[in-house]
Amino acid sequence: MSHYQHILIAADFSNHSQLVCDKARQIAERNNAKLSICHIVEDFPITDFAYEPMISVDIDMRDALLESATKQTLALAASLNIAADNQWVQFGSPNHDIVRIGQENDVDLIVVGSHGRHGIQLLLGSTANGVLHHAKCDVLAVRLHDN
Ligand code: AMP
Repeated sequence: MSHYQHILIAADFSNHSQLVCDKARQIAERNNAKLSICHIVEDFPITDFAYEPMISVDIDMRDALLESATKQTLALAASLNIAADNQWVQFGSPNHDIVRIGQENDVDLIVVGSHGRHGIQLLLGSTANGVLHHAKCDVLAVRLHDN
């Protein structure tokens, strides 16, 4: 069995996040691996050139989103003893940026939940699916159930 050295948790702060974190921590302990955590604040387009701007996302709103995400990441990281250097909260696209952060930091296992805030309608949530398809390292999708 492979011996993981650096495990990255992709956290979305849904109700199931703790389960994903617990699973990642157990694997990190068994492998004596470094544990990191990331959250991507989805960067949605402010305007569509074909239409009038519908939503105005100003700097204050971006700051508020980032601040809230950072607070939640800090709390999860504290409960997992993850150092500040191993926490990333960034704007972007979850599919793309979770994989990028993994690659840039020599992560050899990314842990995601099978589902997130968008519910259990699909066999595999879209982020879990995207990470699974694009990551060059192993990906563990922790099976999450409604209850
Ligand atoms: P979803 O595809 O939204 O059902 O989410 C599946 C899993 O992907 C979640 O359980 C998280 O582990 C991860 N995930 C989803 N969105 C994000 C995000 N914005 N930042 C980090 N991880 C995420």
